[in-house]
Amino acid sequence: MFRRLLIANRGEIACRVIRTARDMGIRTIAVYSDADTGARHVDMADEAYRIGPALVADSYLSVERILAVARESGAEAIHPGYGFLSENAEFAEACTVAGIVFVGPSPSAIRAMGSKIEAKTLAQEAGVPVVPGYNGLSQGRGDLKAAADEIGYPVMIKASAGGGGRGMRMVREASLFDDALDSASREAKAAFGDGRVLIEKFIARPRHIEVQVFGDTHGNIVHLFDRDCSVQRRHQKIVEEAPAPGLSEALRKAMGEAAIEVARRVDYVGAGTVEFIVDRDAVPDDGGFYFLEMNTRLQVEHPVTEMVTTAVDLVEWQLLVAAGEPLPFQQKGIRLYQHAVEVRIYAEDYRRDFLPSTGRLDHLVFPGHRLVRIDTGVREGDTVTRHYDPMIAKIISEGRTRSQAIANLQRSLMEIEIIGPATNLPFLIAVLGHPSFQDGDVDTTFVHLHRAELMAASELPGTDAQILAGVYEALVDRDCAGQEPDPYSPWRRRDGWRGFGRAPVLHQFRDGENDATVSVEWDGDALLLGLPDDTYRVSGKVTDGGTVQAILGRRTIKGRVIERGLERHVLIDGRARCLVLRGPDAPFAQGEASGGKLTAPLPAAVVRVHVEAGATVARGAPLMVLEAMKMEHVITAPSDGVVAVVHFAVGQQVDEGAELVVLDAPADGSTGGAE
Ligand code: ADP
Ligand code: ADP
Ligand code: MG
Repeated sequence: MFRRLLIANRGEIACRVIRTARDMGIRTIAVYSDADTGARHVDMADEAYRIGPALVADSYLSVERILAVARESGAEAIHPGYGFLSENAEFAEACTVAGIVFVGPSPSAIRAMGSKIEAKTLAQEAGVPVVPGYNGLSQGRGDLKAAADEIGYPVMIKASAGGGGRGMRMVREASLFDDALDSASREAKAAFGDGRVLIEKFIARPRHIEVQVFGDTHGNIVHLFDRDCSVQRRHQKIVEEAPAPGLSEALRKAMGEAAIEVARRVDYVGAGTVEFIVDRDAVPDDGGFYFLEMNTRLQVEHPVTEMVTTAVDLVEWQLLVAAGEPLPFQQKGIRLYQHAVEVRIYAEDYRRDFLPSTGRLDHLVFPGHRLVRIDTGVREGDTVTRHYDPMIAKIISEGRTRSQAIANLQRSLMEIEIIGPATNLPFLIAVLGHPSFQDGDVDTTFVHLHRAELMAASELPGTDAQILAGVYEALVDRDCAGQEPDPYSPWRRRDGWRGFGRAPVLHQFRDGENDATVSVEWDGDALLLGLPDDTYRVSGKVTDGGTVQAILGRRTIKGRVIERGLERHVLIDGRARCLVLRGPDAPFAQGEASGGKLTAPLPAAVVRVHVEAGATVARGAPLMVLEAMKMEHVITAPSDGVVAVVHFAVGQQVDEGAELVVLDAPADGSTGGAE
């Protein structure tokens, strides 16, 4: 076994690899960019080397710099994690040339599977069903268009080199094909340096089911069963589970065998995943599954497989195989036990189309729970930057049954406290609690289909938040010594005592766009809370500095109130609301009346401008295309109107909140967008 392993990655996956390597007695070597000085993976490793600036091209994607560190540190092997260089055949080759073991498959296997066009051809040769479509070599617009017409709309245009859901466009009808092709190909070129695409039949309600495979250098290839990753947004997974619920044994077996066949075509060595989509509308039992792609690396969601196949540590297997040892188990020795579910907590705003958000994790608490595993790369005080993937943590739970695993996960998620960037935590809790999810009635349209319900369930009701904030303000023991030295002085009391009777104390909060005044008055041992909607008689308690309980008749509200300056972050069961106390000088809410202005939702680059000043646009018309985090965001007209000003041109950088375009009311004076 190796004695020194370099981990060419960051975040949770670097931490995950370090954990196993350390258990195996291997010395771990981390690399980091300037944005990751003092990051968790840097602290966890035995040694750490700076590789460059925040920009990935000059740090985590720099083959040269990583190999230089490997040589300098005497690393015998490099684990690439996922993302970054993990599926880069040139890197794998360069490692071999440098005499360092690349923990992963051969460069030729990576190369073959890195192209969805070639991978599909290989799967077809192996007799494995693929999604009907065009994976030919010609990339002429005419050929692609003709293929789409022949497949029949809707079709899916996919980047051949794609990953992470990028460079993928669903096209509803022929007239939209050209634009979608340009956009997919441009995004693919920017993200992967390869604009080639393939066209597939769009499967309306597919389940995403994938099979974990593993090969060794002795010719053994096994599978470790399946995972269902159908809950997705932006074609990217947010909830994963193993095994796939409701899969018949026949289908499970057929998919496992098909996955092995695909892996065999490229003499696969190491951990890999063969992804399929299963058409819910197709015949049950053994039909209706199609090969999608193969990921030639460890997958983000590998922990659910580890949890349901006893005593398997996939990173340990990777290292054993990379060191030339045979797989520890043969197929018949690998059994499926229990159930596991994982969610990915991302710094992103589910209210704004799941756009990534950034910022410092001012407060971060993960619960400890025997049946729950937490894989994270951050700690309180760390910052989620726009340079890297905005995943904060993966929370994985197990249970004897699916419903137990879900229940365990729900409970743990509700105990998580995050203050800083917006996160999808409440949305994930809403997904797990949704009756269709609980019934296993899930396909890739799930988020879209139930969006309104899920969003509503993610919101913490304003009244509950105001009640807890009111109780907190009334009861929290603040040290007022600076203002009143006498500890027994009535002037230290915060209960509205005035020397001539009690008066309500008014707390003026800003709650999002609105002002909310909460008046607090004592009534015997109880509090009378006057809220914008009603008055409540509450008996309250504050413990541990911020655990708040409010009993209103038969109902009890429990939560946490975390104070940050004038902010009162109210957290109840994983949902959050921030109330900002109006300080003596703070202005009242302005109301975000942005009129006809259109602002950048995040820091980005302008890649396309669709309009110029004077143009008349209809509501929903694309105005500008931004690119950030390798994804395109289309800025559309919120109403009919006339473009007054376009502030940016292609190639320019825009800051979050920057005004991009100004729209005037339509020239004919109609209000527009009134439906
Ligand atoms: P998975 O099914 O394992 O999520 P994906 O193809 O979606 O597979 O990508 C794996 C992960 O790697 C994703 O979380 C993605 O955001 C991340 N990733 C992919 N490419 C990069 C990159 N160049 N830099 C950083 N992270 C990346
Ligand atoms: P990536 O490399 O980005 O992971 P995949 O080919 O694995 O791309 O597809 C990602 C997701 O996109 C799938 O899980 C599925 O939800 C959706 N998808 C891909 N191809 C199709 C298709 N032909 N029809 C419907 N949905 C699809
Ligand atoms: Mg995929």
